[in-house]
Amino acid sequence: MIDFHCHLDLFPDYDAVAERVGREQIYVLAVTTTPMAWRGTTAAFGKVPRIRVALGLHPELVAERHHEVDSLVQLIPEARYVGEIGIDGSPAHRSSLSLQRTILDRILEACASYGGRILSMHSRRAASDVLDALAKHPAAGVAVLHWFSGTRRELDRAIELGCWFSVGPAMLAGAKGRALVGAMPRERVLTETDGPFAKLGDRPLFPWDVAASESTLAEIWGVTLADAGATILSNFRHLISFLPRNRRT
Ligand code: MN
Repeated sequence: MIDFHCHLDLFPDYDAVAERVGREQIYVLAVTTTPMAWRGTTAAFGKVPRIRVALGLHPELVAERHHEVDSLVQLIPEARYVGEIGIDGSPAHRSSLSLQRTILDRILEACASYGGRILSMHSRRAASDVLDALAKHPAAGVAVLHWFSGTRRELDRAIELGCWFSVGPAMLAGAKGRALVGAMPRERVLTETDGPFAKLGDRPLFPWDVAASESTLAEIWGVTLADAGATILSNFRHLISFLPRNRRT
């Protein structure tokens, strides 16, 4: 199983979570929300098999922590994965929209200058903004849009721009999310949880909850659970073949 967008460092009991992830042999992309968190999380989990840590600056934090983009840019040479980055256009963060655009622009430009990265991207209520930024920086790498919730038209544009998608139980719970997933190219879909932020009912999602997404994907695709799992694993292997070589993490 693959959880390609998980805030592993934000689980209160992250060691226990990592231990079970190891036992169940789940691949986890541990996205971070600040460059400092990337350092700490890399120190803790950077050498754990199947756990990879992404260097991020969460768009919801950009209003207060935009100055940290300098440290992020300095660390890009050491990171193979960059995320969580992106733009959030929901009411609580709309006032920082133009700052968020500037910061994302700078990050994508830096990624491009180092040969591209695999990007885990947030685009809530800002899908067109994020796609504009990606269109402007085609060499920034391979963008995986996490929990994509744009319009069908924005989805078509994302597909055209070469984006991938990571989809989780919270997204697949609703009819709109399912319809979007049904329209995504199957060979560019990965599973995620966005735990512990994303929840199922009252409880935070854990990496092993991607099992639920696999069965929903099997339903949407009209294939067996085993086939859905095999497709996601082969997609994941294909995606990481785009990684730059000779990096430390
Ligand atoms: Mn997230």
